[in-house]
Amino acid sequence: MSDLLIDVRGLHAGYGGIPVIRDLNLTVAPGEVVALLGPNGAGKTTTLLTLSGLLTPLEGTVEVLGEKVDGTRPHMIPRRGLAHVAEDRSLFFDLTVYENIRLGLTGNRAARQAAYDRAMDLLPALKPLRDRLAGLLSGGEQQMLAVARALVSEPKCLLVDEMSLGLAPIIVERLLPIVRNIADETGCGVLVVEQHVHMALEVADRGYVLNHGEVRLEGTAAELRANRSVLEASYLGEAAV
Ligand code: ATP
Repeated sequence: MSDLLIDVRGLHAGYGGIPVIRDLNLTVAPGEVVALLGPNGAGKTTTLLTLSGLLTPLEGTVEVLGEKVDGTRPHMIPRRGLAHVAEDRSLFFDLTVYENIRLGLTGNRAARQAAYDRAMDLLPALKPLRDRLAGLLSGGEQQMLAVARALVSEPKCLLVDEMSLGLAPIIVERLLPIVRNIADETGCGVLVVEQHVHMALEVADRGYVLNHGEVRLEGTAAELRANRSVLEASYLGEAAV
C-alpha cells in the first residue's frame, strides 16, 4: 500500500455529468505542501470538493488516506483524517473564536484542551482573540480561525481553498508560511489552492497548474519558480506538461 495521503488518477469530475476536470493525476504525501494553482474557473475548487467526497468522480480513481472516495459517504472522510477549509471559511460570526474552534473539538475534556493548545501553538496570533466574536475579526484573522478549527481535529491531510480570498497581499505573505509550518510541525500533508502564485511557490514543495480543467504544468516549486515564462504561459493555456 502506498503511503500517499492523496492519490488521484485519471480523474474526470464536474457537475450534472459534465466534466470540468479532465484526466487529473495528483498526489500529496505526508509533510508535503502542494499548491494547486490556476486562473479563475480552472477547476481548483471542484478538485477539492471531489477529494472531500462532496462530488462524485465521473471517471478515474480518488484515494484519500488509503481509501477510495466515490462521493457516497462524505461524512466518513473527516473521520479518516481529512480536513477541508472551504473558500467561504464557514465561520459563525455570532460566536467567539473559542466557540467556533470548540465546534471542531472532540474527545474528553483533557483531549479537547490538548488539541486546542496545539492549534494555538501553530496559530499563536489567535490566542489573545479567544473571546472575540468571529464577525469582528479581520479577514486574515478569520482565515486563521478557519484553519485553527480544521486543525483541532488533528488531520493527517488538510485542504485549504483560497487562503488569500479577499485579503491584501501583505496579509497573505504572513498566512502562507503557517501552512508550511503546519506540515513541518505535524507531518500533515497540505493541498492549498492559491491565486498568489509566486507566494504559494515560496512555501510549497510542489505545484500543479490547472487551466480549463487540465494540468498544464507541474513540478517542484523550485522548477516552477525558475520557469516563470512557462508558468505564465500555462495560465494562458499555452504550455505543455
Ligand atoms: P476560482 O479560482 O474562480 O474559484 P476554480 O479554479 O476554483 O475557480 P471551479 O470553482 O472548480 O474553479 O469551477 C470550475 C468550472 O466549473 C467553472 O467553469 C465553473 O463555472 C463550473 N462550476 C463550478 N461550480 C459549478 C456548479 N455547481 N454547477 C455547474 N458548474 C459549476
